[in-house]
Amino acid sequence: MERLIGIGVSPGVAVGRAVILTLRTEAIRFPIPPERVDREIAALHAARELSRHQLQDIRGRANKARGAELAAIFDAQVLMLDDALFVGRAEEIIRNELVNAAWAVHRAYEELALVLASVDDEYLRERETDIADVAGRLRMNLRHGTRGPRELLSELSGPSILIADELTASLAAQLDWSRIQAFAVDAGSRTYHTAILARSLKVPAVVGLHDASGLIPAGTPIILDGTTGELAVNPAPDAIERATRLAARPRARATSFPHAPADTTPLTTADGIGILLQANVELIEDLELLHEHGAEGVGLYRSEFMLSGRPVETISEEQQYMLYRTLLEQVGPYPVTIRTFDLDERQTSVRGPERCRSRPGLRGLRLGLARPDLLRTQLRALVRAGAHGRLRIMFPFVTGVEEVREARRLLRSVATELSMSAPPVGAMVEVPAAALAAGLMGSEVDFFTIGTNDLIQFTLAVDRTDDRVSEFYEPLHPALLRMIRMVRRAAVRHHIPVSLCGEMASDPALLGLLIGLGLTEFSMTPAALPIARQVIRDLRADHARALARHALMLSTAEEIERYLFDALAARNAASNT
Ligand code: PEP
Ligand code: MG
Repeated sequence: MERLIGIGVSPGVAVGRAVILTLRTEAIRFPIPPERVDREIAALHAARELSRHQLQDIRGRANKARGAELAAIFDAQVLMLDDALFVGRAEEIIRNELVNAAWAVHRAYEELALVLASVDDEYLRERETDIADVAGRLRMNLRHGTRGPRELLSELSGPSILIADELTASLAAQLDWSRIQAFAVDAGSRTYHTAILARSLKVPAVVGLHDASGLIPAGTPIILDGTTGELAVNPAPDAIERATRLAARPRARATSFPHAPADTTPLTTADGIGILLQANVELIEDLELLHEHGAEGVGLYRSEFMLSGRPVETISEEQQYMLYRTLLEQVGPYPVTIRTFDLDERQTSVRGPERCRSRPGLRGLRLGLARPDLLRTQLRALVRAGAHGRLRIMFPFVTGVEEVREARRLLRSVATELSMSAPPVGAMVEVPAAALAAGLMGSEVDFFTIGTNDLIQFTLAVDRTDDRVSEFYEPLHPALLRMIRMVRRAAVRHHIPVSLCGEMASDPALLGLLIGLGLTEFSMTPAALPIARQVIRDLRADHARALARHALMLSTAEEIERYLFDALAARNAASNT
């Protein structure tokens, strides 16, 4: 047995056989029974014939338009389809390794590319791109029709654990989780969007495993523990039996905290400071959890999750309106803060959320202003839905005053057009520029929401999806604490509310520090709410403020962490005596 350790991001134990998904090469690897070998090989040959027709067609057109020189490239590609070292080798891999055709094509391509990279002939080395092209075409044709990752995963038999190099939230949202017990991914950190989604779905998950998808053979038995972040590969039968018993317990235990049923008394610290706890929501089904977990509304609805992989242009105003209205009606009388689409430009006509979460550039409100047609549609749906509950609109990825002004102008014009009033408008503070300019923005918005997931990554130059740098993703960095203090002070000066909706708030050890920094409104993943309530009830805000004052005098994240840890230990010792 081998043990791999990653970061547990969604609690629970699961047992199943490994299914490997390699999104970077867009190939999925899963074991096939011997009786399916002929079917996979037939699919490979069908894809080859389809590819041949496509290439001959392209060749003919290239010849007409550009002459024989360009056409020759496609002649070479057609020949590759009959090369024994390529499609022939893929067939051999299907037979010998009992894997699916798309994966066999990927493997055969990798073997050839390795050989070509080592030869001392520039002409031959350049053929590598042609082979990559043909391999991509074959895989595309193998996927043709109904055989995307989603459909392939729906063909699984028996309990399975998905092991992927990365898993986009849009794909995760579409999978049938009654067939897949849990997932593990090479990439990612605790704030990786797929990790956030796993908690919503109550699917045990581990991220940050580096190269598990390359190491684990398809079909290997796996025990995954989403609490400890451990993956047992090929465990002993008695370990499997124990884990199967654990996994069979109802999923609700995954919330990991024995909470009392709906605690509805107003939430205050031990010394009487009122605290508002709301929930971050991605799926409408999450709403069931809100009342159960004592959330006083939705502090962040990540609207881009409604796309589930579809291009944003395909979601109509009416569809959006119905969804926002449902959300507001179900959460009422509590308020809902809906964030406009936080997408980047590659997602406007290609896919839904995720994958490029860490990319700066044309993202969030910037993208909305660059594509006012899309933003206008969303704002119309929001203003209309606003009549059915207590709605606040929030713009993501704001960097300064001019963007807020332009967005508000658009909102005003939409409200005038509909003869309705515009809901309150807030800015997410998740880019250092917004935190530093909070004093200037305070008079332009009705509220601030601090998004520490992004604020940490952009302040510290750490990609939140990159497991290689996850150790530098440090919520206790003095720069970050100073920014939070700065935003909170700006909000007080402008008499506007400020909340924090990053995952940082769901860490019980950090929540006290945030209250010490003066914050009193938080929104977090619903599963974290019961523990947060308990922490808040046990905490004295005046102690927390003293703690934060001292922490802000320390110079490094490590010193701050040690100080908080010692203070917590001392308090626990005092309360035990
Ligand atoms: C954040 O950046 O802190 C946040 C809550 O937004 P998201 O995780 O959706 O980027
Ligand atoms: Mg963000």
